Amino acid sequence: MTATLYKVEPFDLVIFGGTGDLALRKLLPALFHRHADGQIPAASRIIGVAREKLTDDAYRAQLREVLVRKGAEPAKLDAFLAQVDYRPLDARKDDGWEAFAAYIKGQPEHVRVFYMSTSPELYVDICHRLAGHGLNGEGSRVVLEKPIGRDLASANRINDLVGEVFSESQTFRIDHYLGKETVQNLLALRFGNALFEPLWNADHIDHVQITVAETLGIGRRAGYYDHAGALRDMVQNHLLQLLCMVAMEAPASLAPDAVRDEKLKVLRSLKPIAGSGVSQFTVRGQYRAGVAEGQAVPGYAEELNGAKSDTETFVALRAEIENWRWAGVPFYLRTGKRLPQHVSEIVVAFKRVPHSIFGTKVGTLAQDKLVLRLQPDEGVKLSVNIKDPGPGGMRLRHVPLDMSFAEAFGVTQPDAYERLLLDVVRGNPTLFMRRDEVEAAWKWIDPILAGWAASGEAPRPYASGSWGPSASVALIERDGRTWHEDSE
Ligand code: NAD
Repeated sequence: MTATLYKVEPFDLVIFGGTGDLALRKLLPALFHRHADGQIPAASRIIGVAREKLTDDAYRAQLREVLVRKGAEPAKLDAFLAQVDYRPLDARKDDGWEAFAAYIKGQPEHVRVFYMSTSPELYVDICHRLAGHGLNGEGSRVVLEKPIGRDLASANRINDLVGEVFSESQTFRIDHYLGKETVQNLLALRFGNALFEPLWNADHIDHVQITVAETLGIGRRAGYYDHAGALRDMVQNHLLQLLCMVAMEAPASLAPDAVRDEKLKVLRSLKPIAGSGVSQFTVRGQYRAGVAEGQAVPGYAEELNGAKSDTETFVALRAEIENWRWAGVPFYLRTGKRLPQHVSEIVVAFKRVPHSIFGTKVGTLAQDKLVLRLQPDEGVKLSVNIKDPGPGGMRLRHVPLDMSFAEAFGVTQPDAYERLLLDVVRGNPTLFMRRDEVEAAWKWIDPILAGWAASGEAPRPYASGSWGPSASVALIERDGRTWHEDSE
């Protein structure tokens, strides 16, 4: 099956933090794939920028190694690398910026994308230096990675200062979960079919679960992670954005503000979790030693060389949306590191049938569930009760109607960054977070952070390779429900 690929105009894409983890592991491979598919015009330039004093050739060699390791076809590599340059620059120092600006201005007609793949503390410095050298004109766009800030006040500060030099329409706040095929498919399933939308409300849906589980620990990112924690790193952005996509009203169109207005309404309808509600509706944990993917692994504190830390590596919480559609429907969210499976999924659990004609109690018939898998294998699964085949009476079995996108369409799914990077070049912000969304999300998160700080309690320990502290199980079981397991 061949898809129509939309061409983009020639562009310059500058990746600040071009030697970092995100750039080398995600952004540049994503650009390579778009290039290999012929979507990146030959006149475009991809420019890595970081503090390291590297030559163009040394940078390309580093990139070649990364891409070969990821299975890139050598024949396609040379043409891609010929469009990649590198410029050493320090965001905090003046040296080199004048020459960098002259180099960028050498292609006056290009769309210019400046991607902030550095720590958020540098976003403001970089944006102001770009503006100081006249690089914030109409054709320029800036991409801000998440998390933006560490609370509402710091996010506002970054947004205010970036906003002094780049307008809102030039600012693309990326949340790569929104670029995943499954998330797009949530829109397609909900609004491209007559089947689900009439049932998509508190009358028919019992609850929703959103799980983003990683088997990895903090790895090389200890410095960043220990400063952030799971609530800021994952819930404030990815999990809340997924919740919005599940819960929003039908937008009038796919126009950027039509979608973002609806997401914003959801964020603003979240019931605050504050004061005593924090210990009642949230659980935070920190991993200890254990086993991950068959290997013995150390605990979080050992990975920090024994430093004492109250940073959470696991969060579970019970959210509610106070509006007509969702009144009384709990949304259970959980995310963590060193969990047993690398899996991200949304589970929409429908209400049980009101009466059973099968000689079994109503409560024993399994709930229908729509499971949207975001990773590892993107797909949709709808589990329903059907008759157990063969003689022996009318026994019901709960079975999945299972569809893997990769198998069904015979194509490997593009990485979310492939789509999102080209959306920036095209100037389409539909799948990016508007400033008011980021603010609304922090407004909901801040009281949880404050509640944890006020409690003085340490995160609950959990063994690596387990599904988090037992309190997370209790959080959902208290309501007579259980966390979804993959085998269901
Ligand atoms: P990293 O520490 O691996 O890379 C940081 C980059 O910034 C390096 O290239 C470094 O040379 C450069 N840098 C540091 N100080 C600089 C300075 N003064 N001037 C110029 N360059 C400087 O970080 P990362 O993991 O790649 O993350 C980058 C951003 O992306 C962060 O905001 C992070 O929160 C976000 N993010 C990362 C991931 C991921 O998987 N790594 C996922 C989502 C979001």
